[in-house]
Amino acid sequence: MVSRRSQFKACKNCGALVPRDTKICPVCRSTQFTDNWDGMIIIIDPKESIASSMAGRDKPGMYAIRVAGKK
Ligand SMILES: [Zn+2]
Repeated sequence: MVSRRSQFKACKNCGALVPRDTKICPVCRSTQFTDNWDGMIIIIDPKESIASSMAGRDKPGMYAIRVAGKK
């Protein structure tokens, strides 16, 4: 199994997972990213998604469940 982790970095502000060459977070416009993250949730429809209500996300996308330095 190929690790998906190495292909993405996580936004330190909102936890969005983006490709490594992304400069600006598409969700919150932050430019702070980290490779130190754990878990992945994919939100397709924020209004319908239980995962999104649990994680407090309101935009579709991939998010890290835990980002280093963030509680
Ligand atoms: Zn962000």
